[in-house]
Amino acid sequence: MSETIFMKIIRREIPARIVYEDDDVLAFHDIAPQAPVHVLIIPKTPIATLNELADAQAALVGKLVLTAARLARELGIDESGYRLVTNCNADGGQTVFHIHLHLLGGRPLDWPPG
Ligand code: 5GP
Repeated sequence: MSETIFMKIIRREIPARIVYEDDDVLAFHDIAPQAPVHVLIIPKTPIATLNELADAQAALVGKLVLTAARLARELGIDESGYRLVTNCNADGGQTVFHIHLHLLGGRPLDWPPG
């Protein structure tokens, strides 16, 4: 797998507005926010798409989701509501091939998506 920009963010080679970090997970504001709150939650392990996830990474996926829910509380959008999105491959609109959750909120979000 070729390296993505997210590995450079993990290594602090390019700047990002980081909101959370631990040994497994990094979360930072999206550079092109689609909502007042738009945070990306990524594993530090580079996994290209959801299709490459292994059973052994179930706990990691759980940690990504729990981190998103906690950040939603911390960013004050848990009660108003939010959306967690992960895009996979071309039809899903994935542009960075290092899995990530988009945490979106702070305004009503259209459904269904376009
Ligand atoms: P995808 O399209 O793969 O679901 O989402 C990739 C996201 O990464 C996009 O929302 C895009 O704006 C964001 N992104 C791409 N490059 C950078 C960057 O260098 N810094 C930050 N913070 N976000 C980025």
